[in-house]
Amino acid sequence: MESQARASVKYLPVSSDIPPLLQSCKKRQPIPINPTEAWQRFTRRTASRKQLKTALHARQNGLCVYCEITLDNSENQNIGSHFDHILPKEKHPTLTFDYDNLVLSCFATGGEIKADEQDTAPVSCGHAELKRTNNFHETLFIKPTDSNCEHYFSFELDGGAIPHAGLGSSDTDKAEHTLEVLNLNCLRLKRLREDTITQLYQIVSELHSDNDVLKRFLTLELQENKSFINARKQHVG
Ligand SMILES: [Zn+2]
Repeated sequence: MESQARASVKYLPVSSDIPPLLQSCKKRQPIPINPTEAWQRFTRRTASRKQLKTALHARQNGLCVYCEITLDNSENQNIGSHFDHILPKEKHPTLTFDYDNLVLSCFATGGEIKADEQDTAPVSCGHAELKRTNNFHETLFIKPTDSNCEHYFSFELDGGAIPHAGLGSSDTDKAEHTLEVLNLNCLRLKRLREDTITQLYQIVSELHSDNDVLKRFLTLELQENKSFINARKQHVG
């Protein structure tokens, strides 16, 4: 793997800092008989929901774990977030309350962007059709908790996310499958990424004669809570 490879699926190290209400629920129900119902019961409780959301938000630096968009910033249409099980709880009941199988993904449930003639499939990440319907190959799907997930993708100037050029054929297959399952090359995301990259290059070129100002600008723009942080790092880091 080459060091300049960057993530699209953002790496989340395994955490020992598990929200207590989630942990106690997992203790009570290590293998729920009806995972969907058990999960709904958990998230209906405001305290449980808030505690988990706060923990994941901090763990992910406020970014969607899949596309790296800012979750609570109106600059990105304020699309909200939902809890996503990386591997489906219906197929893996033991992972229903597993903190390392839980992430925040973009789009509040019910608040997804509607398709139109120009952008026929604007919904990505946890609510993308293939991910939402669990219609993917688990062995090919690159999980945010895979320690090497950050090595699979790179970003083009037009905003496209592609498998990193240094990958072998089986890793390229995994990257392509993951991009497809999460719909990470929808028009909406490509445009947002392209705008981010283009704007960065423009400002970097305007500031290139003043090294101190440029350094300060890049320090701010490469903070871990910035949308598309890994596309930023790849291009101007
Ligand atoms: Zn997303």
